[in-house]
Amino acid sequence: NGTHNSSRKYLVRVQSDKVTYNNDVIQADYEYQTTRVTTQGETIVATPVSTNYQFQTKRHVPRTGLMLVGWGGNNGSTLTAALLANKHHLSWNTKEGVKDANLFGSITQSSTVPLGDEVYVPLNSLLPMVDPCDLELDGWDISGLDLAGAMNRAKVLEWQLQQQLVQEMSKMKPRPAAHIPGFVASNQETRVDNVITGNRQSMVEQLRKDIAEFKASRQLETVIVIWTANTERFAEIREGVNDTAANLLAAIRANHSEIAPSTLYAVASILEGCTYINGSPQNTFVPGCVELAEKHSTFLGGDDFKSGQTKLKSVLVDFLVSAGIKPASIVSYNHLGNNDGKNLSDPMQFRSKEISKSNVVDDMVGSNHILYQPGEKPDHCVVIKYVPYVGDSKRAMDEYMSEIMLGGHNTIVVHNTCEDSLLAAPLILDLALVAELCERITVAKRDASGTSEHQPLRSVLSILSYMCKAPQVPKGAPVVNALFKQKACIENVLRACIGLAPSNHMLLEHMVR
Ligand code: NAD
Repeated sequence: NGTHNSSRKYLVRVQSDKVTYNNDVIQADYEYQTTRVTTQGETIVATPVSTNYQFQTKRHVPRTGLMLVGWGGNNGSTLTAALLANKHHLSWNTKEGVKDANLFGSITQSSTVPLGDEVYVPLNSLLPMVDPCDLELDGWDISGLDLAGAMNRAKVLEWQLQQQLVQEMSKMKPRPAAHIPGFVASNQETRVDNVITGNRQSMVEQLRKDIAEFKASRQLETVIVIWTANTERFAEIREGVNDTAANLLAAIRANHSEIAPSTLYAVASILEGCTYINGSPQNTFVPGCVELAEKHSTFLGGDDFKSGQTKLKSVLVDFLVSAGIKPASIVSYNHLGNNDGKNLSDPMQFRSKEISKSNVVDDMVGSNHILYQPGEKPDHCVVIKYVPYVGDSKRAMDEYMSEIMLGGHNTIVVHNTCEDSLLAAPLILDLALVAELCERITVAKRDASGTSEHQPLRSVLSILSYMCKAPQVPKGAPVVNALFKQKACIENVLRACIGLAPSNHMLLEHMVR
């Protein structure tokens, strides 16, 4: 019937002598096969490498809370409404007929993966995952408007749907926010009526109390914090200020002017043992912040939701470059009229977005040295304009010009129109659900001498790259932007947790005699 519940009827169970299901965990012995490459003179030598891991995934799905920074924004209010609409199985009339609640656009709720024998199953049936309807919500906003008012202000949802949600959402009020003028655009100041007073240290202390209070009052076992507030300007990385965990904590105590509010939320989350995800482009994760998360063994993910234009770019450029066609010019033009667009009309905040949108083709270009000389890149230009009338219905126009055989040119022009928040909200849900799952996974290495101790995943969750424009990865790890590689990463890591080989799409059984 189109509601997300229709996809949650079953959970896959693997039958294998390498996989055990006990009361607490699913344990899978897994052979991870990679290829080591070296060069010997003119020859490139490829050596198959096999590493044995043991995955354990806790089966108990914890009572999970999601705290949104910028809860009263378009994304925050739209996600809240979407979760309630699904929980209550709401339907509403539109001029096109009756619509039912669904979670289209969420890979955990609305995408399927091939299990084998051409049988497709919902992604969320591979392992026990949080049911979106069970998520407890809370958050902060510099604007104190309740969530019903925020939904109305966002002008995203159909009126009849809004009416059914007003009563419940009017009881939801964002907590006072950590706000420091100069980080988001000055045009946001008219929204400010709900902030924590005091210096940076007292802000972190209050944010920590908020998280702890939310957790205790709703009897939650885990809380995930996601920034979906406005884009901040970049913070300068300064030696002695934000370069190490100790310096960052000292700089917060000293109320140093270069520490951004988003970093305060991240630090508070880390100190409360919570995963923190950054849905905007700014550099919240200064080196000191990453080091702090590693020290506390908490998780980080980001940056910047990959919802529309960039998502398509990370498919199109991958297709062109892997087809042996050479994109030479990529021009992306956007206009939007929501508050995000207003904030981005300020040059400092636009700069953060421009950087985040610009690097998205690097891995694909770098993968093909037949088309591109070392250091060569396509011309890549990103323009964003604020046009209030179009509201949340963002327009993205892209022109891809490529070199084809014998000096020919191929020009592809794309026009993309849709409500930005209806694309971003399901991504926020996926980020929360995949991150929560990662909190329950541990891995041990196995070799002839035995099995090492089980360890949690590394702090920076590169598995979240699919949902992010500028993926954060652990130090030294390659950044992958190509969308289908990112999706394959999620799918295959989940398969590894239940001892299934990666999807390879070879269909050899139909190919060989
Ligand atoms: P929005 O302006 O509607 O919402 C942001 C909210 O954050 C506002 O309610 C604002 O009052 C609040 N806010 C600002 N500073 C804050 C602070 N320090 N603490 C707490 N709250 C604060 O914007 P949106 O459309 O919901 O987008 C949110 C963010 O997500 C933006 O940075 C945007 O660039 C990013 N993003 C959105 C999309 C998308 O498709 N919608 C895609 C990628 C990234």
